[in-house]
Amino acid sequence: MAIFNNYLKQLLMSKSNDSNLSEMRVGDLLMTEHSLGIIEVTPRQAGENSTAYVYSCGIHGNETAPIEIVNDMLADIESGVLKIKNPLLIIFGNIQAMREGKRFIENNLNRMFSREHKKYDIEDDEPKRAKEIEESISVFFNKYKNLNKVHYDLHTAIRPSKYPKFAVYPSLKEGRCYSKNQLKLLSTMGLGAVLLMHKFSPTLSYYSSTTHGAEAFTLELGKVEKFGDNIRPNFKDTEEVLRSLVSGEKFETSNKYPKLCQVKKELIRHEQEYDFKISDDTANFTEFKKGTVLASDSVETYKVEEDGEMIAFPNGNVKVKQRSGLIMRVVSPSDIQIV
Ligand SMILES: [Zn+2]
Repeated sequence: MAIFNNYLKQLLMSKSNDSNLSEMRVGDLLMTEHSLGIIEVTPRQAGENSTAYVYSCGIHGNETAPIEIVNDMLADIESGVLKIKNPLLIIFGNIQAMREGKRFIENNLNRMFSREHKKYDIEDDEPKRAKEIEESISVFFNKYKNLNKVHYDLHTAIRPSKYPKFAVYPSLKEGRCYSKNQLKLLSTMGLGAVLLMHKFSPTLSYYSSTTHGAEAFTLELGKVEKFGDNIRPNFKDTEEVLRSLVSGEKFETSNKYPKLCQVKKELIRHEQEYDFKISDDTANFTEFKKGTVLASDSVETYKVEEDGEMIAFPNGNVKVKQRSGLIMRVVSPSDIQIV
């Protein structure tokens, strides 16, 4: 009996979060459902040159395109259309939020990794799920200790963006370099820009990068739509690369880098009285001219220091002491350590 031909439908229809813990053999592969929405695909032999991949989606429940993409991959793996040569862990993140068409139920799941879930009530769905996801990634990557490790955490964004597809590269542990191969793969996937983060972040990609030494990224692949409303051809380049990587198929990679945007400064709302000049519909990667005032309170006024500074994730309505946006500047590949 096919289990994974429309796994998403099962996730959305079922009332509980218990899984049947299915395990099935498909040709040379073993497909194991470790818990609801966490499925491991094990090829009979993972060679020394294999890479262990994690593809996660639905960490925000309403970001449906990646969920559909991964769901289709599962169906094609089960039917044998998509051959798998590299170990793969598939994660559907916030299942209850997916059912309700919401970003999250109580709290943002993508702020709960690297043990940050301990700060929440563990009886709540989201911290419980964060812990479960971390543990499943640990078991998976520990099993493949000697292989290269890669994690793509797939999202879509609410806000418009000058680059409809872009990646967030988590801040790297000291001594680690940016990966040339990965940057070019991101470009092959159709991503126009990469945001190079500057410090700890409680996101899933940061967790895999720092705790497991994986090449890990948050991929923002376009706009949030309801299930069924995604224009799938818009995702074709990304989808093809994701499939080719796990199947071990050779494909042509871009020799260009995406635009590299390094975080220069965090804007912080220091107090209740806050004059935030960037409107809600301002696109990510919008550039500003030198001298433009972006935000102001009695503690600090931020004026753009050089032409071309860009904004990411602006939001003036955050609580006091929280981040209201990131100021970025473009760097050239020779400005950063790429290996
Ligand atoms: Zn998201």
